[in-house]
Amino acid sequence: MRTLDYIAPESAADAIALLAEHGESARPLAGGTDLIVDLKHSPGNIHILVDVSGLEEFRGIEETDEGLRIGSMATYAEIMENPICLEKTPEVVAASHTVGAVQTRNLGTIGGNLVTCVPSADSAPALMVLDAEVTVAGTNGNRRMPIEEFFVGPRKTILQPHELLVDIWIPKKNLGKPSSFYKFGLRKGQALALVNVAAALELKSGKIVEPRIALGAVAPTPIRILKAETFLSGKKPTKKNIQEAARIAVTESKPIDDFRASASYRCQLIQTLTQRVLTRSLEIATAS
Ligand SMILES: Cc1cc2nc3c(=O)[nH]c(=O)nc-3n(C[C@H](O)[C@H](O)[C@H](O)COP(=O)(O)OP(=O)(O)OC[C@H]3O[C@@H](n4cnc5c(N)ncnc54)[C@H](O)[C@@H]3O)c2cc1C
Repeated sequence: MRTLDYIAPESAADAIALLAEHGESARPLAGGTDLIVDLKHSPGNIHILVDVSGLEEFRGIEETDEGLRIGSMATYAEIMENPICLEKTPEVVAASHTVGAVQTRNLGTIGGNLVTCVPSADSAPALMVLDAEVTVAGTNGNRRMPIEEFFVGPRKTILQPHELLVDIWIPKKNLGKPSSFYKFGLRKGQALALVNVAAALELKSGKIVEPRIALGAVAPTPIRILKAETFLSGKKPTKKNIQEAARIAVTESKPIDDFRASASYRCQLIQTLTQRVLTRSLEIATAS
């Protein structure tokens, strides 16, 4: 039977030092909903769990002059109940509601979701359409980057073994931006997304401004559909333009065939769901 050492460091600096010392044989532990499952299938090279879930630097959700800061250790349950998130980032709340079941949402963290970096990670599209940035800390200090740059490939981020995801920042100008999230799974609960999608946009003088579209489970990482965003920018919010943006989203995606669904079925979902989130975002923009 495998034995694991468990260490609960008192600060982010201590956690980074431990990870730097032990390299590939140590792993940060947050809620454990991905890591504990993964450990059962890992080759046995992991011997130390560094529990970062209680670290003050990684906790909390607060609004500052810069925008909204969500600590990487915020659980889905915390996000779903947070008054600022409920008011200003409702699609991040909506995405949180779709994750697993109550137990998963009580333990699982938004940071753990981004670091696991599966293509279907539900929090990713909702954060990407708000131009979220992430802060990473390591032995060389902190660095901040757009969330898209954090994802490298399936289950692969830019993090080095000694690095930790500290927090997620949503710029002030995007708080309350009209937006929408939709996840399609084979069941209502406890299902990974066949496709998940988020959109955000503004309406100015009857034209679409700063449109954003992000999709999950349709490519090796969650992706922004930049060509569709460029197409929609400055256009009138007509049904035809929305349909064309969704068509571009299909051509920009590379969904796989697997036991959950065929690629062609996923393409139909991309078309339908992209239209749906764009239409919903327009409704919100029109009403506000
Ligand atoms: C039953 C079940 C249902 C699920 N349903 C969904 C679903 O519907 N949608 C979905 O997207 N996901 C789902 N998941 C996956 C999982 O719950 C989420 O990805 C969750 O957010 C992971 O967070 P965690 O805190 O549990 O991370 P952990 O399991 O603790 O960690 C995950 C990985 O991230 C690393 N890590 C964690 N925090 C940090 C940090 N701050 N810095 C650096 N590395 C870090 C860990 O070392 C590990 O490699 C499900 C999981 C289960 C078990």
